[in-house]
Amino acid sequence: MPISGNEGDTVCVDTEISDPVRAPCRNAQYGCTEIVDYTKRKEHEDVCLCSPCACPLRKCHFIGSSTQLSEHFSSKHWDSGRRFQYNSPLPVTLNKNEACLVLQAEKDGILFLLSKGTESIGHTVMITCISPSSSKEQYLYDIVSERGNSCLRLKSYTNNYPGRIEGSPPVDFLLVPYGFLNSTGKLDLEMCIWNSTDIGAD
Ligand SMILES: [Zn+2]
Ligand SMILES: [Zn+2]
Repeated sequence: MPISGNEGDTVCVDTEISDPVRAPCRNAQYGCTEIVDYTKRKEHEDVCLCSPCACPLRKCHFIGSSTQLSEHFSSKHWDSGRRFQYNSPLPVTLNKNEACLVLQAEKDGILFLLSKGTESIGHTVMITCISPSSSKEQYLYDIVSERGNSCLRLKSYTNNYPGRIEGSPPVDFLLVPYGFLNSTGKLDLEMCIWNSTDIGAD
C-alpha cells in the first residue's frame, strides 16, 4: 500500500459513523420512514405523502397522515360520515345549518369533504379530497340538483386540502341557486365521485 508524503499531518476522522446532514423526515411521527439529506429536506417534505391532515369534525383534534386519518375516521366516527361507492350516484341532503358532510369511500377508505358555503344568490358546493395539498391526485365529481322540470348538473375535479374548509371557498366551487332548495331550506343533491384508471391521470 503506498504511503502518502505527509503522513504526519493525517487527522483521523471517520465521517461515515454519524452523518449530521441526514435526518428523519419531520413527518416520521405520522409514519414517514424517509431519512433525508439536509439539502433535499424541504423538497421531500413538500411532497411527503405522510404530511399531516386534520380530522374534519369540529370537535375532534386528531391529526395524522391521510392513511392514519382514514383509519381514525372509520373507527371513531363511523356514524358521522357517509360511506359511498366510486362511480355510483349517492343522494345526500345538507340541512339548512349544515356546512359540510364527510364522505368515505368504501373501496379504499379515502376521505372527501362536501362543503357548502352561502353566497347572495345560492349555495357554493365543492368536494375536496382530505389529503396533503401537494398531492396531485384529482377525482372527477358531479353534482345534480333537481327542482320540478329543471335539472342542474355540475361537474368539477376535487382539490386536495388537508382538513376542513373554513370561511369562503378558495377556488373551483360550484353554485346551486337558492331556487333549488326544497321548501324547508334543505339542499338535496345527487353526487358521484368517479375513480377509474383514465380519470385523474396527467
Ligand atoms: Zn416524509
Ligand atoms: Zn376525529
